[in-house]
Amino acid sequence: METQKKYPPTFSFEFFPPKTPEGMDKLRATWRQLIQLKPRFFSVTYGAGGSTRDRTLQAVLEIQKDGGDAAPHLSCIGSSRADLAATLELYRSHGLRHIVALRGDLPSGSAGAGELRYANELVEFIRATSGDHFHIEVAGYPEFHPQARSSLDDLQAFKRKVDAGANAAITQYFFNADAYFRFVDDCEAMGMDLPIVPGIMPIANFSQLARFSDACGAEIPRWLRLRLQSYSDDVASIRSFGLDVITELCDRLLSEGAPGLHFYTMNQAGLVSTIWQRLGL
Ligand code: FAD
Repeated sequence: METQKKYPPTFSFEFFPPKTPEGMDKLRATWRQLIQLKPRFFSVTYGAGGSTRDRTLQAVLEIQKDGGDAAPHLSCIGSSRADLAATLELYRSHGLRHIVALRGDLPSGSAGAGELRYANELVEFIRATSGDHFHIEVAGYPEFHPQARSSLDDLQAFKRKVDAGANAAITQYFFNADAYFRFVDDCEAMGMDLPIVPGIMPIANFSQLARFSDACGAEIPRWLRLRLQSYSDDVASIRSFGLDVITELCDRLLSEGAPGLHFYTMNQAGLVSTIWQRLGL
């Protein structure tokens, strides 16, 4: 964790672009509340093949207009080089300089993986087409990506993104702080020198969390799973217990040198605001 301690902590909030005008109204209310906390930036996710391109950009531009800094995500799966170049040009034309670069996931049954297979190729492509214009964030996996052939392969894949020109990384969420500390130590031992900010998922609902975690390879430890299951439909108890667990996790990460926190807000302000206050940020 030694390298991480030299980076000033960066706090950020992630949203997804809503599909409906009502969802967008709710999201506006969410970011207007969260802007008061003065995060370093907000980020807005991007659907495979450019399926959310316009909505992602709209949310980013509106957040900027309201005084927040915002970074669009860009995923390469399902897109051609020409599509990606056009999106990068669009981002540039709006004065955006911060991007989260990902491979993305194809919805099951979709055809055509696109021209770039992995996120390191996207980072190379961004650097080749836009030089140093963008500050590039990439994804890291303290518990390893579900498709990784081995933990070492996954670390090497992460290093290729760093070598291709990533400036910083945000991790997949996790509940086991040791997995993060070990991941960072391994990255440092492999010569990587960039801030690796832990991704934090507040706990609001057990079945949704279990579904996400199965899909993305984030482990819910047995003690946590059994306790959450025992609350059944008692939403208030899940939230209250979840707030304790996640606040303790954040507290430990920060006190042991994590260079900030990136919250997966699920477009809700309540839980992250409470965690923020409890941490005294
Ligand atoms: P990569 O870094 O390319 O890795 C993907 C897999 O391929 C890994 O298993 C890796 O080990 C393996 N791999 C890499 N290179 C090679 C190689 N040369 N040969 C063989 N295997 C290789 N998804 C979206 O669709 N939109 C979003 O906006 C979005 N935002 C995200 C934000 C964060 C912070 C995180 C953590 C994830 C996000 N995701 C998003 C999910 C992400 O797209 C998926 O986790 C996806 O499966 C992997 O993306 P990646 O960029 O990490 O891919």
